[in-house]
Amino acid sequence: MTILSGKARVSGITGWPVSHSRSPRLHGFWLERHRIDGAYLPLPIRPENWTIAIKGLVAAGFAGANVTIPHKVAAFEICDTVDESARRAGAVNTLVFNEGRITGSNTDGIGFLNNLRQHGVDPAAGPALLLGAGGSARAIAAVLLQLGVRVTVANRTRAKAEALAVDLPELAVIDWDQRHVAVSDHALVVNTTPLGMNGEGPLPVDLGHNRPAVADIVYVPLQTPLLADAKARGLIAVGGLGMLLHQAVPGFAAWFGLQPTVDDELRQFVAGDIPQR
Ligand code: NAP
Repeated sequence: MTILSGKARVSGITGWPVSHSRSPRLHGFWLERHRIDGAYLPLPIRPENWTIAIKGLVAAGFAGANVTIPHKVAAFEICDTVDESARRAGAVNTLVFNEGRITGSNTDGIGFLNNLRQHGVDPAAGPALLLGAGGSARAIAAVLLQLGVRVTVANRTRAKAEALAVDLPELAVIDWDQRHVAVSDHALVVNTTPLGMNGEGPLPVDLGHNRPAVADIVYVPLQTPLLADAKARGLIAVGGLGMLLHQAVPGFAAWFGLQPTVDDELRQFVAGDIPQR
């Protein structure tokens, strides 16, 4: 176990709730692996207390914090500066504190891309079909569009996908019911809805017999029904845990001064308390 000194760097995850979060386990693994004088804490904060709590963390000398549901939009507003990733995603998941100033970024998109790349999938290989139009779809659409990928969104509530396309005008929108036929026109199909998560039904989509790569950002369970279906058809299937691991890299590097790696040992450690299916 790492011994903390009086100079220890401190970060954590702010959310409400945060008891489900794997981020303390994930950052704790890297801190221990690299024997870093630092700590990463679960920070459950009610929405009405979030702004004052963040100001308290800044005053207390924290290095920064992660932000999860329901604070990602409030986090955008508290920042003195936000980078391009946060602007395009319209939300912040990573805060860095520096001499009283708060900088925000959104690492979900880059985490998604680096997870695909680690699985041998080139995200720019062809058009992408996103199922869902929530916060994570927005972050993923933004980075794919920046790579020059043609992106189509199908969402249960079409108006929400159209609202997304107002902010990201290159986005194409189709009806939710068209998702089955649209699969064959796309090189990558991505589930960004909670469907497939434990307690939810499976995502109903006909993957057909073409050969798109299929990515699911749900990671509880590790093997969702969508991923199982994709594998059974011989398609490349990329799970959501790697996105979680990769999105954590930039924050860890900024707070603790070391670029950590995402490898099998980390994956197995974090997966240790997640059901397989
Ligand atoms: P969100 O902002 O609430 O958006 C959810 C989206 O899913 C909405 O577009 C919603 O459609 C759609 N949806 C919800 N229930 C549905 C249903 N029964 N049928 C069809 N569509 C449905 O959520 P989010 O923040 O984007 O997160 C989505 C999922 O991704 C969560 O499970 C979250 O845990 C996971 N996630 C994973 C990572 C990772 O690192 N792997 C990162 C972020 C999020 P409507 O507009 O019609 O409501």
